Amino acid sequence: MNESPSIGPTPVTQPGADVSHSIDWDRIRADFPLLRRQVHGKPLIYFDSANTGQKPAAVIEAVDDFYRRHNANVSRAVHQLGSEATESYESARKKLARFLNVRADELVLCSGTTFAINLVAYSWALPRLKPGDAILLTRMEHHANIVPWQLIAERTGASIKVVELTPEGALDLDMLHALMTPEVKLLAVAHVSNVLGTANPVREICREARRRGIVTVVDGSQAVPHRPVDIKAIGCDFYALTGHKMCGPTGTGALWARKEHLVAMPPFIGGGEMIKEVSFDGTVYNDVPYKFEAGTPNIAGFVGLAAAVDYLEALGMANVEAREQALLAHLMEELSKFDGLRVFGTAPGKAAVVSFLVEGAHAHDLATLLDLEGVAIRSGQHCAHPLLQWFGVAATCRASLAFYNTHEEVEHFVAALHKVRKLLG
Ligand code: PMP
Repeated sequence: MNESPSIGPTPVTQPGADVSHSIDWDRIRADFPLLRRQVHGKPLIYFDSANTGQKPAAVIEAVDDFYRRHNANVSRAVHQLGSEATESYESARKKLARFLNVRADELVLCSGTTFAINLVAYSWALPRLKPGDAILLTRMEHHANIVPWQLIAERTGASIKVVELTPEGALDLDMLHALMTPEVKLLAVAHVSNVLGTANPVREICREARRRGIVTVVDGSQAVPHRPVDIKAIGCDFYALTGHKMCGPTGTGALWARKEHLVAMPPFIGGGEMIKEVSFDGTVYNDVPYKFEAGTPNIAGFVGLAAAVDYLEALGMANVEAREQALLAHLMEELSKFDGLRVFGTAPGKAAVVSFLVEGAHAHDLATLLDLEGVAIRSGQHCAHPLLQWFGVAATCRASLAFYNTHEEVEHFVAALHKVRKLLG
């Protein structure tokens, strides 16, 4: 267990140093077996990483190795395999904590962002909020950062307020500050938008919220896979993330929370592992973070996530970000030459997520025809109905890139877009 990945990038960087140009990105791409396949007889161009990321061989092999050689449940068994499984699971927590610059005992491992936000909603907000209180959200949130709050608002009588956007798709910060009124108890905001790519100034936002006694929840799903994230520096109260978008397996993720919150919050889900002692007279819960981890976790998944963290750390997140920014600049430049193409989200510093529409072509038709060219993009509402309603469109196409994409793919994608647009006539 925890052997070095047989395939993976060589450590190349100091934190903050941009030496992305010195990385052999073709070799990095070769670490991703799926990217070698063809789709409809064409080389696959995978531009749907905001939906889920592809996995390097190191991650696939770590999961495979766990099931072949170490599989056992965590914590319950004293036998060798049991302690190996527990050690691997806890080592994943430590690696992820170090990667995010937080304490391991403040990191609750769970199935992903959706679970993490629901945990905050049900364990922190539900017992605290009351009629007259308000929850502050933004127009660009994913449904996972809207619907749990609506459920809590319904049950507590709290109201929901929404921060609107500028025409480029950035948060209207004046409005945000104006809406931080005394009745607001909680602010939930995306670090990076999954539709617009907008990167929100979460550090400043959390600082302002904290000054006003507002608890902050940051949805980091689209940030952690694509840029260096230092949760401590952000200064939020809760930070949610998902493993499958950061080269890890599906069904993995985490909630980071300040320890004082975790200690004060009641458990969300009850069962084994989250208790110290159970009797019919009452139950003593386990310490944090285990109090929030009832049942058998996705052990193999977290072994894979640990390998993903190793992989990304070796690559260097500053390099990942620089590579993706170069690909984004290329894509935006090509798209700017495309007649009748509208991009949704042009805020400075945005991530490599490009939502667009082509005049006269339906988003689903474009995506379907692009698929026949081997290009995988997403079309639809991207789990962000309120955002698309604000733009007044029923659907968009979304091309989302990752460091394993190439400049050649950007060119092929744009050529394929020209081709399918002609077909749609
Ligand atoms: N928030 C954002 C911004 C997302 O992009 C996603 C995934 N599309 C989620 C939340 C939900 O993540 P998961 O489905 O992994 O729980």
